[in-house]
Amino acid sequence: MMMAAAMSACGQPPSATSTTTTNDMNQYDHSNNPYYSHTDTAKVDVPLSEWKRLLPANLYHIAFEKGTERAFTGKYWDFEGIGTYACAVCGNVLFQADSKFASSCGWPSFFQPLRKDAILYHEDRTFGMVRTETTCGRCGAHLGHVFEDGPKPTGLRYCINSVSLEFIGKR
Ligand SMILES: [Zn+2]
Repeated sequence: MMMAAAMSACGQPPSATSTTTTNDMNQYDHSNNPYYSHTDTAKVDVPLSEWKRLLPANLYHIAFEKGTERAFTGKYWDFEGIGTYACAVCGNVLFQADSKFASSCGWPSFFQPLRKDAILYHEDRTFGMVRTETTCGRCGAHLGHVFEDGPKPTGLRYCINSVSLEFIGKR
């Protein structure tokens, strides 16, 4: 019996894409968030009180209080789905999965954004370090940081909180 089950499992053609559906990887229901769009790139200027009302508490904390999720706890750090990652706050498309790389840091890591202006950069001198903070170019949400120890071709490592990202699959 065991043998048959194993052979049957091996007989399945290997799937090129993740079997996880987009819905399973969604962080929250966007239906009450009128600013969420994967196509509108116009900047949105929304009061923090409004974001606080619309977003889950953990996303609000990371996006607008510059929180950081614990390493190896986010849902995307070792996720290998093929598709696009968007800002979880506003839906702005940020990264393609083909610029994601396996990093031992415990957060999803990318070597380049999808569009140059998808992300904004700010000097961050907190915690006695000089780092470059990354924020969403559309809504201003904190995403994470970018470091200069990434792989070719850019040599950059965008280290992004999973909570700040929404995997939207192949389109
Ligand atoms: Zn955004």
